[in-house]
Amino acid sequence: MKLYQPSTVNELRNRYGFKITKSLGQNFLTDKHIIDQIIDSADIQPDDLVIEIGPGLGVITYEAAQKAKRVIAIEIDKNLLPILHETLGELEHVTVLNQDILKSDVNEIITAVKEQEHIGGVKIIGNLPYYITTPIVMKLLEEGVDADSITVMMQKEVAERIQSSPGKKTYGAISVAVQYYCQVEMVAKVPRDVFIPQPNVDSAVLRLLLRKEKPVELLDEAMFFACIRAGFGQRRKTLLNSLTGVKGMTKGLAEEALSEAKIEPTRRGETLDLEEFAALSNAVTRRL
Ligand code: SAM
Repeated sequence: MKLYQPSTVNELRNRYGFKITKSLGQNFLTDKHIIDQIIDSADIQPDDLVIEIGPGLGVITYEAAQKAKRVIAIEIDKNLLPILHETLGELEHVTVLNQDILKSDVNEIITAVKEQEHIGGVKIIGNLPYYITTPIVMKLLEEGVDADSITVMMQKEVAERIQSSPGKKTYGAISVAVQYYCQVEMVAKVPRDVFIPQPNVDSAVLRLLLRKEKPVELLDEAMFFACIRAGFGQRRKTLLNSLTGVKGMTKGLAEEALSEAKIEPTRRGETLDLEEFAALSNAVTRRL
């Protein structure tokens, strides 16, 4: 059975009386080439654990299972469980967990598998539910997920924002935040017509390689993120003005911090790169 074929997708839907829930971001992938691109760029090794977010009917899961030692797929929709039982049931090294990824303790899942068997690397993959792309990515990163990479499909616009750089319109807090944790690679741009049902946006696959060492030294990580939020909060404001959005910050202190970080007070947050945000937040930390 070729799970990715539109005829198979429709046959499974009819036979199980499965109704697609748009509010769960259910857009099923029907292009083998794109599935292969996700699997290949995730670089799955024979002793790897793969965690998949939102397996749907199991198209990506099935291919990942051909390469990995263990696969854990986290799916919120219990109506998909009987279908996944049919499509993946014979694969003993695949487990489907009926959970909300935003409430899952992913590190606990990884630790539990590692306690039972020898695992080489941990790769996170998925065609993400688009309504919660950013919360999923940020949750994994902020919780310090114990994985090597996150290779996921998302709306093209979000992928472009994550990969963006200073001065571009798409550059924002999410660009700096994700690039602090990961090296970001664009794997593929994906047109909207390879999904059932067709979403009304194009997609892209990003590979996020989790950094073993942080790219900048921070005195206070929370302050770094506070400065990023302030810097992008009101994009039209100069840094001198927007920095007063950081708790406890006065204009005088902002001036001193900008001067120490060698950043012109008239610049806007959207022109600062990761290193500059780090220098600025360290200068702010020393004053608050
Ligand atoms: N992987 C399948 C594919 O590519 O055809 C399905 C991808 S579909 C874009 C997103 C999947 O994530 C759906 O199966 C949906 O039910 C599931 N999902 C939505 N919200 C979720 C959540 N909070 N936790 C886990 N899975 C979720």
